[in-house]
Amino acid sequence: MRTLVIGAGPVGLEAATAAGYEGWPTLVVEAGRVGAGIRTWAANRGWSMWDHWAGPAGRRALGDPPPGRPRGRELIAEWLAPLAARCDVEELTRVIAIGLAGTGFQVVLETADGERRFEPFDQVFDAAGPGSWTPVGPGGVPVPSENRAASAGRLRYGPVDPEDLPPGEILVLGDHPAAAVLLAEIAAVRVVHWCGTNWPTHLDPLPVYRHGPIERFGRSSEGLVVFAGGERFHVAQAVACTGQQRDLSWIRSLPWSCRTPDERLEIAHPHYHLLGARSR
Ligand SMILES: Cc1cc2nc3c(=O)[nH]c(=O)nc-3n(C[C@H](O)[C@H](O)[C@H](O)COP(=O)(O)OP(=O)(O)OC[C@H]3O[C@@H](n4cnc5c(N)ncnc54)[C@H](O)[C@@H]3O)c2cc1C
Repeated sequence: MRTLVIGAGPVGLEAATAAGYEGWPTLVVEAGRVGAGIRTWAANRGWSMWDHWAGPAGRRALGDPPPGRPRGRELIAEWLAPLAARCDVEELTRVIAIGLAGTGFQVVLETADGERRFEPFDQVFDAAGPGSWTPVGPGGVPVPSENRAASAGRLRYGPVDPEDLPPGEILVLGDHPAAAVLLAEIAAVRVVHWCGTNWPTHLDPLPVYRHGPIERFGRSSEGLVVFAGGERFHVAQAVACTGQQRDLSWIRSLPWSCRTPDERLEIAHPHYHLLGARSR
């Protein structure tokens, strides 16, 4: 059973390790480096304990994980890198298209220098993760002046290392659990504002200025003017963790569907498996 795993994140490496125990020849392709999704929050401490990250195959390979709640970089160094070392992982190679071929698949892979090749696989474990961060408006649509704020570097998408923030007040946008992680870390060192619809109540004790949903951005000589919940205030930098959008490009040619109301993706093929954050 020649097996392809898409993505060398926690879910893909667990799947590849399990496939190895089944005796299936398995290739993991990773668009970036091992743990590329986790690298985006290397400096931050996640909300889950170590136990959450360790699947049965990973434990069989590496033993039980340590206690505590890891930062992204600890997760990579102590779990993902050792698992990857036991698998056949091709970094800097991405899946760009997949077609049906007999009972299996014909997969188009592209390396970072633009070289393409076709490879047949009998089954695919698609663990390509939750995708890219979306604009901050409702339904992932940009609010007025959002693109200008982003291109001026005043609005960043996704997690940040608190040490990389410019001096001044900071705005964290969004209801994604990553927003709560950032608020907890930034409030310890900075004046911080939050805009969103669902305040994470476990952060009630933190000194955070809370506002309603974002309406638009405006220009300011010191940074950004923010209009939210009928209020107007200035910040030096905004960080958006509103939502993420899956990349559906390479499954377009497969018979896929998106089941509401939980938006779970499904592929109508017995050997194509959507795993982890990729399926939700
Ligand atoms: C600050 C922060 C804290 C977090 N803390 C937690 C936490 O405590 N607990 C938790 O469950 N989640 C946490 N998350 C979310 C966490 O990052 C995801 O749950 C986790 O990464 C999902 O694992 P995954 O293997 O499904 O996807 P990913 O880790 O995103 O891995 C997917 C991989 O697929 C690769 N890839 C994508 N497209 C392709 C392609 N076409 N070809 C080849 N490779 C591709 C990507 O480069 C990536 O490396 C946190 C997120 C943030 C931002």
